[in-house]
Amino acid sequence: MVYLDYSATTPVLPEVLDSYNKVTEEYFGNPNSLHSLGIKSNELLTSAKKQIAELLNIKETEFTITSGATEANNMALIGAALTYRRYGNRIVVSKMEHPSIYGICKFLERQGFVVDYVNVTQEGVIDFDDLKRKVTKDTILVSICAVNSETGARQPLKTVRQVIRKNNENCIFHSDMTQAIGKVNVSVNDVDLASMSGHKIYGPKGIGLLFKNKNLVLTPLLYGAHEGELHPGTPALPLIVAFAKALRLALKDLAKKEEIVRKYNEKIVAHLSEYSDILINSSKYCIPHILNISLMNIKPETFIHALEGDEVYVSSNTACSSLEPSASVMNMYGNEIRSRTTIRISLSHLTLPSEISEFLDSFDKHYQELANLK
Ligand code: PMP
Repeated sequence: MVYLDYSATTPVLPEVLDSYNKVTEEYFGNPNSLHSLGIKSNELLTSAKKQIAELLNIKETEFTITSGATEANNMALIGAALTYRRYGNRIVVSKMEHPSIYGICKFLERQGFVVDYVNVTQEGVIDFDDLKRKVTKDTILVSICAVNSETGARQPLKTVRQVIRKNNENCIFHSDMTQAIGKVNVSVNDVDLASMSGHKIYGPKGIGLLFKNKNLVLTPLLYGAHEGELHPGTPALPLIVAFAKALRLALKDLAKKEEIVRKYNEKIVAHLSEYSDILINSSKYCIPHILNISLMNIKPETFIHALEGDEVYVSSNTACSSLEPSASVMNMYGNEIRSRTTIRISLSHLTLPSEISEFLDSFDKHYQELANLK
């Protein structure tokens, strides 16, 4: 099997799975119980949370465990909108967000908020002139992803924050960092709220995190035994410990791992550039882990299933909107066919050189076959 869909989800690292299994078996006590089993679990919970805080360079009180990035995005956007609506009713998001952000925006629009959508340039980066125009005195929240999930375009978060602050110093800045964490160097301290997910960093599914700057108050979406808790209920200790481990491993040797991935990316781009009908949807701002191309003459789903026949796995765009045209490619290039024929190849430092060769062989075989059929 050649798996090149790491941006959809990653396999769980064996050592992370070992932690999950060990904690499930040996720490089954509820961390909230008063007896020794509970205390033992609570100590482990405290140490896992401490580790997460240290890894992200934040305080232990500045994050909430969630079920994933979708939930973190909901808590952040809806929670902030409800708390701060007395200061304004406008929210700004980019045109390069994950579908979960747009789902939340639709809900907020139904609640009376006005959402402004900021353009991106052909290189996939925020159009700063448009951002300046759209962040007004009534804007309470801006949400811009750190890395786009379809094209890998990376946003300069520090500059975005400066621009926002210049227009409105009270405006909250959220970033969906799901596709950035563990791939490139990003800091949650460049924003006020940040979302991430375990299953994109070789951790388990069903866990993520929301960073929340200590000065912010979010209206909780869920209510439980303890007032003010954003994610009430019994802590999912095995998931939390496994997430802490996955995060530690993901943040290790970032530059070295990125270099491995960059070489793979360059090899694929050099090879595919030989085909005059294939367009590469990347700019110098795209991280190498995500390579988006347009086949132009072939339906992506047909091609994906052809590759699958050789046990080669890639995506059309994001796994969350596989059958839709790529909104990000449309926004970058304004070309309908280009946005309808995308293939996303997402790479890992765990990818082997032989897998890249196998992928290219399978690609050539099916591309030539399907192009001839046309
Ligand atoms: N945001 C981005 C940028 C993503 O890529 C994804 C996963 N496709 C999500 C949010 C949703 O993450 P989760 O599956 O953890 O809810």
